[in-house]
Amino acid sequence: MKLACIDVGGTTIKRLCATAEKGAPVSSYGCDGYGFSPTGAKQGFEAIKGNIYASIEGLLAEFGCDAIAVSTAGTVDWDSGKVTYATDALPGFTGYDFRADIADRYGLPVRVINDAAAAAIAEHFNGAYPDESEIVLTIGTGLGGAFVSGGKLDSDSVKDLRIGHVEYVRDGHICKCGKRGCIEQYVSATAMRRDSGNGDLDAVFADRAAYGGQIDAFEEALRWITVKAFDMTGAAHAVIGGGVTEIAGWWDDFVQKLPPVYVKRVRKASLGNRAGALGAAYAALNGVFARQ
Ligand SMILES: [Zn+2]
Repeated sequence: MKLACIDVGGTTIKRLCATAEKGAPVSSYGCDGYGFSPTGAKQGFEAIKGNIYASIEGLLAEFGCDAIAVSTAGTVDWDSGKVTYATDALPGFTGYDFRADIADRYGLPVRVINDAAAAAIAEHFNGAYPDESEIVLTIGTGLGGAFVSGGKLDSDSVKDLRIGHVEYVRDGHICKCGKRGCIEQYVSATAMRRDSGNGDLDAVFADRAAYGGQIDAFEEALRWITVKAFDMTGAAHAVIGGGVTEIAGWWDDFVQKLPPVYVKRVRKASLGNRAGALGAAYAALNGVFARQ
């Protein structure tokens, strides 16, 4: 089966065509036509939708897909595929009936899930512990986190933890959600660019002489939320991914300074920027949905 997969974030829409069979592991998926384009969030809701349609139509034209799988920022009701809440990173998305819109437009089966859950599904069902519970954190423009329990794939077993909005600093930096001091204001690419005053994060993490204080603060905040996520969920393992984990210069130091009980229970994600799209494909093929 060929699935047109898109991953809608606050900055880019990633796209790929996955060739996949029900029950097969994510690592076996064929992956063609990977690319990305701007979300256009600043231009507003209609512009974002236009960019989403263009990404899907490009894949349908090139690969003739049988179904559409969507991973998106925002809180999504798994069973209906409706966005129940989104920050102004995606203006107009709160209440958007994403699945119905895409299904009506293209006449194909469509699944829509949250991006943190999608990344968690891809990494979990591609990993070494398919039957054990796992947290997957994604450090990108913001910080996402989801929990997969016991190798099951339904709306009760995969939880978007909305972990980016756990309070880390009392009266800290203002967040897109309206609160102050949320952890994603300290653990994200956005936070590192703000605190270092340098947009090139490869350069920042490569230069401890200049940015040691900011790197240490980032690692410390990530350790705090990782331990918190273990405490919140009782997970056996944690996987950490997203664009920032692909930057050299901090991972080993971060892991080594975790409380010893967690050191061997944390690993780096393996699917990189494709995790969201591939997780949506896996969920479309294998997930249990009540109303879709
Ligand atoms: Zn927040």
